[in-house]
Amino acid sequence: MANAKIVPLRPHLVLARPGQDGPVSVDWDEGRRMYVAACERCTETLLTERLDQAHGWADEHRCDPELVALLTEILDRRAA
Ligand SMILES: [Zn+2]
Repeated sequence: MANAKIVPLRPHLVLARPGQDGPVSVDWDEGRRMYVAACERCTETLLTERLDQAHGWADEHRCDPELVALLTEILDRRAA
C-alpha cells in the first residue's frame, strides 16, 4: 500500500468588496505554513498562522490611497 500523503487544505478566497478598497485574496502558503492575505489592489499583505485572523484583516483592510495612486501610475506607464 502506498504511503498516505497528507494534502493540506488550500483555501483560496477572494473577498470582493464594494467601494474604494480592493478585493483581498486569502491563500495557504505551504512553504511558510502560513495564511497569506493579500490585497489585489494595493498589494498590502498579511502573513498569519490563523485563518480567522486573515479573514479579519481582509474585512478591516483599507487601501492606502497614495499607494494605490502610485501603483496605478506605475502600471499605466508599463502599459503605455
Ligand atoms: Zn488594499
